[in-house]
Amino acid sequence: MIIEGKTGNWELVIGLEVHAQVVSNAKLFSGSSAAFGAEPNTQVSFVDAAFPGMLPVINAFCVEQAIKTGLGIEATINEVSVFDRKNYFYADLPQGYQISQFTRPIVSGGRLVLDMPGGKTREIGVTRLHMEQDAGKSIHDQHPSKSYIDLNRSGVCLMEIVSEPEIRTPEEAGAYLKKLRAILRYLGTCDGNMEEGSMRCDANVSVRRVGATEFGTRCEIKNVNSIRYVMQAIEYEATRQVELIEDGGTVKQETRLWDVSKGMTRSMRSKEHAHDYRYFPDPDLLPLVLDPKEIARIKAAMPELPDAKKARFVDQYKLSPYDASVLVAEQEQAAFFEEVAKGRKDPKLAANWVIVELFGALNKLGKDVTNSPVSAKNLAGLLDLIENDTISGRIAKDVFQIMVETGKDAASIVEEKGLRQVTDTSAIDAAIAKVMAENEAKVAEYRSGKVTLFGWFVGQVMKGTGGKANPAKVNEILKAKLAG
Ligand code: ADP
Ligand code: MG
Repeated sequence: MIIEGKTGNWELVIGLEVHAQVVSNAKLFSGSSAAFGAEPNTQVSFVDAAFPGMLPVINAFCVEQAIKTGLGIEATINEVSVFDRKNYFYADLPQGYQISQFTRPIVSGGRLVLDMPGGKTREIGVTRLHMEQDAGKSIHDQHPSKSYIDLNRSGVCLMEIVSEPEIRTPEEAGAYLKKLRAILRYLGTCDGNMEEGSMRCDANVSVRRVGATEFGTRCEIKNVNSIRYVMQAIEYEATRQVELIEDGGTVKQETRLWDVSKGMTRSMRSKEHAHDYRYFPDPDLLPLVLDPKEIARIKAAMPELPDAKKARFVDQYKLSPYDASVLVAEQEQAAFFEEVAKGRKDPKLAANWVIVELFGALNKLGKDVTNSPVSAKNLAGLLDLIENDTISGRIAKDVFQIMVETGKDAASIVEEKGLRQVTDTSAIDAAIAKVMAENEAKVAEYRSGKVTLFGWFVGQVMKGTGGKANPAKVNEILKAKLAG
């Protein structure tokens, strides 16, 4: 996206920081449950509440999840990483510091391939992924004069995933988050639910004149809770910065908030006097040293990820890159498609039906493939009936509609409603004879050279058979009869 200003054209520079809550039963340094939605303060150990003398013990499963994620973004897994203390005071941070990784993260230098419109792709560098603890939650809206603290989230393991400032448009930012979320979900390392806050995104945005090589000053937009809002916030913020600069102002480095109701960003706090977090290695924790054999073991057990699956779908089923990327966006969708396409001579037909008809119907119902009224087996059954000429593609759409409404299989619906395609030539002969007898004038016109009437005759015969005649047969016989 290029913004056309009063004084010239501007380019956007965007970097995203994503906090992804790790899927794990227990927290990063304690055994308490990390489950979402429990009664406040019911999942808090002495470590999470920072009782004096309590020591953190690292959760090996969380480390494995971070390694998996690092491998999923084709990054380097660092055999030695260090946990630091990031010191600040807040009521929902009982330790007075957050344990995080600063100078030596567990993962560095990965990449994400974005799926852009028209089947195009674009690669964005991932600077690093580090592990850290989440803080507790302050609740300010339950009492007129008191704030409450819920420490259930205190100590839950997060992965912070930081992109290079290589994203150039709101659409690329959206595609980046979609691809990252897909990989996290395929791996089962984060559920990627932005509304519930298990995946949170801060967007760093600056603008520069097209052709400039230096970056402009950036603003950081905090915790926007959907991909669509991230895209809107970036677009708003970039336009604001261009107008500000062109009116003679300067962008201040600051943290801003996205106001959903107003559709604008507003200042939250200045970054000019950036916090001094006084980072230092946590003396309660040894450096994290990984065994290369362990990394190799995790690598060998990695599932097929979206990009590899997409390439395979293009190759094996001859799908367009765009259709393939739509299908692989969710693992369950991809599996559904493969079940429908299995052993089929025309897998593209299967892709079309899944993407256009099925996704269209599910969208209207607010459902997805996991609770679809039409199972993969039943959709495959419908396609079988098209492929073996039992029904035409047009009748198939009616049958599909009934499948969506009733959950029944295609063959029973076709039998029940008598929708079987007429391939019996005597029935087609009779229908043609009837149409020709009732329209002698048109037959004469056709025979005297008005061949464009042919389509009209086909239409009449199809109508006469309730749409059930095999169109190819009708064409063939009709042509012969009309020729006289
Ligand atoms: P901080 O700790 O202050 O958030 P980082 O160096 O971790 O700073 O950078 C945060 C994010 O900001 C990264 O995703 C990076 O790509 C992005 N970024 C850095 N400089 C710019 C810039 N000038 N414009 C837009 N994004 C930027
Ligand atoms: Mg930041």
